[in-house]
Amino acid sequence: LKAKEAFHALRKSETRLSDAQRIAALGSWEWDLASDKLYWSDQVYRIFGQRPDSYETTYETFLNTVHPDDKESVKQAIQQSLNDHVPFNTDHRIILPDGSQRTVHEQAEVILSEGKPVYMQGTVQDITTRKETEQQIEYLAYYDSLTGLPNRTYFKHQAIRAINMAETEGSKVALLFLDLDEFKRINDTLGHDSGDELLKGIADNLTHSLRSTDCVAKADAPASSMLSRLGGDEFTIMLDGFSSANQVASVARRVLDKLTQPVTVLDQEFFITGCLGIAIYPDDGNDLETLFKHADIAMYQAKSRGRNEFQFYSRQLNRHSRKRLGLESKLRKALERDELLLHYQPQVSTKTGQISGLEALIRWQDPETGLVPPGEFITVAEESGLILPIGEWVLQTACNQTLRWQQNGLKPIRMSVNLSSNQFHQDNFIQNIKRTLDSSGLEPQYLELEMTESVIMQQLDKTITDLNKLKDLGVTISIDDFGTGYSSMSYLKRFPLDTLKIDRSFVTDISTDASDAAIVKAIITLAKSLDLTTVAEGVEEETQLAFLREQGCDLIQGYYFSRPLSADDAGHYLAGHGNLISTPDTLPPLQNQNYSHE
Ligand code: C2E
Ligand code: MG
Ligand code: MG
Repeated sequence: LKAKEAFHALRKSETRLSDAQRIAALGSWEWDLASDKLYWSDQVYRIFGQRPDSYETTYETFLNTVHPDDKESVKQAIQQSLNDHVPFNTDHRIILPDGSQRTVHEQAEVILSEGKPVYMQGTVQDITTRKETEQQIEYLAYYDSLTGLPNRTYFKHQAIRAINMAETEGSKVALLFLDLDEFKRINDTLGHDSGDELLKGIADNLTHSLRSTDCVAKADAPASSMLSRLGGDEFTIMLDGFSSANQVASVARRVLDKLTQPVTVLDQEFFITGCLGIAIYPDDGNDLETLFKHADIAMYQAKSRGRNEFQFYSRQLNRHSRKRLGLESKLRKALERDELLLHYQPQVSTKTGQISGLEALIRWQDPETGLVPPGEFITVAEESGLILPIGEWVLQTACNQTLRWQQNGLKPIRMSVNLSSNQFHQDNFIQNIKRTLDSSGLEPQYLELEMTESVIMQQLDKTITDLNKLKDLGVTISIDDFGTGYSSMSYLKRFPLDTLKIDRSFVTDISTDASDAAIVKAIITLAKSLDLTTVAEGVEEETQLAFLREQGCDLIQGYYFSRPLSADDAGHYLAGHGNLISTPDTLPPLQNQNYSHE
């Protein structure tokens, strides 16, 4: 009876253990080394997908269930444990009889007898779900969820590995930095969902362009490549196993070509282009950060040449970009320290010889290098956004000065102020103009805004509305450098313009170059038909003046009459000439004035 009770108790505890193992997805096993017999608990059979009655468990049959790729490492772990008498601990995959896979965690220790291993006992746990979750997390951490491409983190990992490898092997790695052209504009018009679709399509095209890179297809191509999305519309490509820059260049070309293949979103075809910057390890940098920075600089250089371009990094570029950054920070300080100033250049009537306006032209009094002309800093101001505060300063200063001259008893004249694209397309631009006029007290008719064709030939409908609002304020509008940009004639008619300024490049050779003369003639005729006032820029010689006057050009601006003058000199000039009235034939040349302020 006692034996029976003991037997029951034993069965009960075995059942409990087995239940506990099942719940924990944990099985236990024992391996008798002498007989090579493996004893598996019920749960081990369950995990391995085997039936206890039809499966003979030996070390060999166990090894056969291990995934072929993991077999070697499992064997080694067991062998080491037996040799050194230490426990082992390993994760590996197993193949079930139905062909499916599981991942298990094995933990075991050796039982010794007289210093020799006789048994091994251990546990096995099914960790498939946990592994899958880990992989999912890894995927989220390393891949871009939109395109499925490796993300910045993964790319960095791989790039650092590739660089370390290249260092030991003495080989090279190329880093290509791709930025799509005008993607922001497309994204804004399309909406973000469609923008995302477009990016997916682009990622596919890019993946394709690199797939044909494999060395079998092309003997002269780099051995391997990796594409990733850094975020937004920025992608990177890493190449290694190439022997010349030519191979890298041909990949760059292929990527750009493939990129231009249309992507369809919402039944509409989009033609995307991009620019690539390339930096090569070790030539252009020894670490990833430097290479990234240099590829980025090269990419901007490519962009500055237009769309669909690529550019290798060169030290020259770095010097250039350093200079540019230096200029930007100096310019920022210049604004704070009041180093900017305006010069004023008169516009003289060809008919009356009277000064009918002045153009405000910015200069920078740099304490180190002297007077800096706008050509050397306006672009940087535009690219850095500094043009907005600078532009406001110009407007305010020009309006204040114009009113001051009036208050000093000079005849009121018009002041022209140049505007950059970012200023005009700024959200609250019209209110800004109104506020500036109000705060200076200048009557709006004395302010003229000068914009180039490229500024107004954008977002045409909005531009027409905005120009009309400006007109409603009472200011006048002038097109600067006319003839150098691209104007749609049909729009020109619809814009509420007042003045057209003929670019200096046509005026310079007006008396010697027949086609320049013809262009100027045509522009004047066009302006007249649109009822616009014409101003010729850059008139330096009497013959140019004579031709322009004959063609009926209204106003002349150029060194022939006067260079741009400081505020004081311009005041004197106005006082001296402001009321001068003469007939066209007796128009006096005033170039002998000694105004050498430039
Ligand atoms: P712009 O508006 O076309 O100005 C005319 C330029 O031609 C001025 O150059 C002027 O000094 C120059 N010029 C005038 N007459 C002659 C001449 O007879 N011969 C020659 N060779 N040149 C002449 P500047 O002052 O260097 O200005 C260059 C450009 O910088 C301006 O071209 C304008 O686009 C821009 N700029 C000037 N001030 C401002 C400003 O306040 N804001 C903005 N956004 N741009 C400005
Ligand atoms: Mg101008
Ligand atoms: Mg101009």
